[in-house]
Amino acid sequence: MRLDKLLAHMGIGSRKDIKKLCKEDRVLVNGSAVRDSGMIVHPYMDQIVVDGDRVKYREYIYLMMNKPQGVISATEDRKFKTVIDLLHPEHQNFQPFPVGRLDIDTEGFLLLTNDGQLAHHLLSPRKHVPKTYYAKIQGQVTQTDVDSFAQGVVLEDGYHTLPGQLEIQKSDAESEILLTIYEGKFHQVKRMFAAVGKRVTFLKRIRFASLPLDESLQLGEYRELTEQELASLT
Ligand code: URA
Repeated sequence: MRLDKLLAHMGIGSRKDIKKLCKEDRVLVNGSAVRDSGMIVHPYMDQIVVDGDRVKYREYIYLMMNKPQGVISATEDRKFKTVIDLLHPEHQNFQPFPVGRLDIDTEGFLLLTNDGQLAHHLLSPRKHVPKTYYAKIQGQVTQTDVDSFAQGVVLEDGYHTLPGQLEIQKSDAESEILLTIYEGKFHQVKRMFAAVGKRVTFLKRIRFASLPLDESLQLGEYRELTEQELASLT
């Protein structure tokens, strides 16, 4: 791999910046200053140091974000701010993308990665990866709804959903629930409630696959997954 590509990927600077760093003898490969920023290096075997700091190459990044409302789960958009806009440049360099989508008015756990294989695994309809949502619902949610969701409900387009686990936390004029589903159709939670004549007024994803949302993350904040968290996803 080219040295400038590797260093740009790791957020050291643009290729032009790296050319300059090399000219100034600030980049060492295996202990020797390298003048040619296009030198071919081995990302894992060669020891690369910039300004005295070792640069440890890694290809992939895995981020847990607490998505706020008002931003969209896409890599770019003409009109709205995207979740990628919330990332620091050093993380944007990895070119991550959201694994699945949350609506613009949905909050909570969004995984971002540049690991296409993991994303494919987590999004595959055959894998039935669980997702848990906390929601506020207009009107009383009842045991009848719990039973209906346990059978799967028929959406307005005729699709019969897989069974979902509905847990009532508060049944009142505005109810509070937890719902775990094992698929990810467009607007699925809102449409499942619409199927039983109810409206979702607030939606937050609190769990994705094996991982709970880190409660210390404020809306719009994110952090890298730990090695154990990543291992539990694969
Ligand atoms: N279901 C929805 O209706 N919206 C989301 O954002 C996620 C699941």
